[in-house]
Amino acid sequence: MAGETNEAPQLRAGSMVTPVEDFREIIRMYSEEYQHYNGGPVKCIHMHNSFAKYVSNIVKKFDSSVTAISLENEPLLRKICRVDTLDPRNMKLKWAILKQNILAVDGKPIRPRVMDPQFYVNQYEPRSVNYDNVDKEEALARRRLQESWKHFDQTSKRPCPSDIPSTSQNSENKVKKWDFQEIKKEQEKQDSEEENQKPEANIIQESKNNEDNEPSSKKLKLDTESDVCILCRENDRTHAFLHGSLESDDASAHLVACEECALKWQWATKGCPFCRKPCVNILRIMK
Ligand SMILES: [Zn+2]
Ligand SMILES: [Zn+2]
Repeated sequence: MAGETNEAPQLRAGSMVTPVEDFREIIRMYSEEYQHYNGGPVKCIHMHNSFAKYVSNIVKKFDSSVTAISLENEPLLRKICRVDTLDPRNMKLKWAILKQNILAVDGKPIRPRVMDPQFYVNQYEPRSVNYDNVDKEEALARRRLQESWKHFDQTSKRPCPSDIPSTSQNSENKVKKWDFQEIKKEQEKQDSEEENQKPEANIIQESKNNEDNEPSSKKLKLDTESDVCILCRENDRTHAFLHGSLESDDASAHLVACEECALKWQWATKGCPFCRKPCVNILRIMK
């Protein structure tokens, strides 16, 4: 597949292309330059323009909201597209259709590529989420942040280093915070253990978490009275998500989660779990 595309000559507006026989009629009808055309090379842009005029003439007959035009009554277009329905919004398709009706580009013969009928569907189908990649992205983002904070720590001036309280409780905690994949593994182990013990409670917990993960407008008022973690609604809030743009007048952080949830949350890629502002670090708030 890759080799084939490498060999195929580049298709440019000025390329001289030789269309297949079925296409000649369209060029005769819709291209002023080639009214008596009977085969041979034509400028690619003329082939393209005549095809565009031809298709728009057909599409005009339909409502603009139509997304699938049946080619039942358009035998020539059907022959050229080699499918039964056409989506007029799909512009990429136009070039794919042209390509499969070209025999040679600038004198070099090419093998007309026949489109997969699924081509139409595939273009609109969203890709499924690759959760492995999502986790890797979070781990990478955290490592990058850790590196830049390390640099920041080294370059920032400390008036009185001994006065500054340690930023982490112990070294174990520090590792946890920056290594997202370790946290995930640990969590999965715990989950499978819990599942065996109390499956029902686990399901309730899960659905609760899903609600919390969804950013909804009604949730944007933070219950400042409560001291309960917004993610698990169980433990006390001890950890804040430090928002980005630290140079602004209003550098801020949301104190909304317990330690466990703060570590589990994909803050480096998804931002603050409460407001979704970019998050550059999580802070343990000392009272
Ligand atoms: Zn929590
Ligand atoms: Zn926030």
